[in-house]
Amino acid sequence: MIEEKKLIAATTPKDSVTFISLGGLEEVTRNMYIYEYNQEILIVDCGLGFPDETMLGVDLLLPDITYLLNTKKRIAGMVLTHGHEDHIGGLPFIIPQLPPFPIYASPLTAALTNEKLLEFGLKPIVQTINFDRAAVHIGSFKATFLRVTHSVPDSANIIIHTPVGNFYHGSDFKFDFTPYDGQRTEFSKITKAAEEGVLCLMSDSLGSERLGFSRSEQGLTANFEREMRLSRGKFIVATYSSNIARLNQTIQAAAKFNRKVCFVGRSIIKVKTIAERMGYMHIPKGMEIPLTHMHKYKDHELLLLVAGSQGQENSALTRIADGVHKEVKLGHRDLVILSSDIIPGNEVAVNSLIDALSKKGVRVLYSAISHDFHVSGHGSTGDLQLLISLTQPKFLLPISATYRQMVAYREIAQKMNYDRRDIFIVENGQEVIFSKNSVKLGGKHDVKNIYVDEVSGEEVENYLIRDREKLAREGIVIVLTEISASSGQLAGKPELIIRGSTLQGMREDISSSLGGKIEKELNARTGKVSNWSHTRRLIGDITELHILKKFHSRPLVLPVVIEV
Ligand SMILES: [Zn+2]
Repeated sequence: MIEEKKLIAATTPKDSVTFISLGGLEEVTRNMYIYEYNQEILIVDCGLGFPDETMLGVDLLLPDITYLLNTKKRIAGMVLTHGHEDHIGGLPFIIPQLPPFPIYASPLTAALTNEKLLEFGLKPIVQTINFDRAAVHIGSFKATFLRVTHSVPDSANIIIHTPVGNFYHGSDFKFDFTPYDGQRTEFSKITKAAEEGVLCLMSDSLGSERLGFSRSEQGLTANFEREMRLSRGKFIVATYSSNIARLNQTIQAAAKFNRKVCFVGRSIIKVKTIAERMGYMHIPKGMEIPLTHMHKYKDHELLLLVAGSQGQENSALTRIADGVHKEVKLGHRDLVILSSDIIPGNEVAVNSLIDALSKKGVRVLYSAISHDFHVSGHGSTGDLQLLISLTQPKFLLPISATYRQMVAYREIAQKMNYDRRDIFIVENGQEVIFSKNSVKLGGKHDVKNIYVDEVSGEEVENYLIRDREKLAREGIVIVLTEISASSGQLAGKPELIIRGSTLQGMREDISSSLGGKIEKELNARTGKVSNWSHTRRLIGDITELHILKKFHSRPLVLPVVIEV
């Protein structure tokens, strides 16, 4: 308690705003940022991180919310910028750990996030903000959502108004003047923000190494049509499930050539269902067929929209490539288009997927050999400089990128006559303290790596259905354990979070008896942790067995391992 008071005095004077990234700096994913003013905290995004190749056996990473756990009473609310996993995917793990607070998002972002919460047996609590609404007040903050173009509909940049100054939170965007869905960037809101003054622009900087402007979505439909005209076999397109515009483009082309469309993979079917319900996707009547009816049609009458463009293990496309998919078998006349980029870290998986497909004798088109079927959703230098020109900020702070991309961003801003000292490249956990006319660096919070299992990823149908039933019956138990990377030992008592379960009242009982069990097992395996996945599953197994034996219950157990 004394600790917390000290923290308040140190970090939140009334004439300043403190910005901290809990994830998303020096990495492309795991976006989570906080803005703090006068003892109130506004959170922006809560994403999952995808591990890099040095983290063996890691499925997913969570942002480190230790700081929020120490300051939870001060959280005023949260805003979400768009519906990508690296911006919303952490919520089901984070929400049970924090007290309730309002969460706001654009219509599709809210729908995708609420669906995700439901999957985890949590209440759908994200409130919808339509773009025509002026602004939403969250404590002393005011947040204006403005529409930008990106690779998922309803993407927003958010202007955060504070008594100290205004911040332009420019998460993922590009400036596409001819987006497929016709929903253009709201430039008038950007210039209005500039008129009111922008103290700092936090900008997406992933594309800062690419010259010029990012290409528009517009030409892609014609390219899909051209290939479809020539294709005599099944036309298979894999893209990110959330890229609804891309799915619509292929459907439009297929309608021209009388191909039926079939969605393959759990994640893509989920997004399709939400998009259709909300009017973001229109499939002509009678055009869609279920997987089980595929055999009734000839190959050249089919368009398959498939999940798994990143080569994820167990995804539909990987199983098709390996020849183990029950319904979809490849023929030599089939064409597979990977309408996507490789997310950094997935290079090995995607390349072996392309190899496996090529070995089957099908033609594969992917970004290294054709630019006709994918454009990036992130701005290049031109887009990034245009946003700087429009917002005219005093200070700049690149986000959502690797270190070298943030440095490249600084270069392009310096070319626009920004002083190097006004551009802040900071690490996760670093406090950046803004006053009306100046900026200084504050303290640095430790941001750890937190590992979780991929429970809602691609194509884990059976697993998930089983878990859903479990959830409804027995609730959910999250086990947080701190483990030393160097010794493999438990670094503190495991902490339990229990929701929707009859076990709720027995938290203390379980955690005290469980701690010893886990410690004993880990003590027997000393040495540097070489595979986090094994460690996490071991803890999951111990917990499940312990709760079953002692409390005769089978809740869904989610082990979360914090590397210390
Ligand atoms: Zn994004």
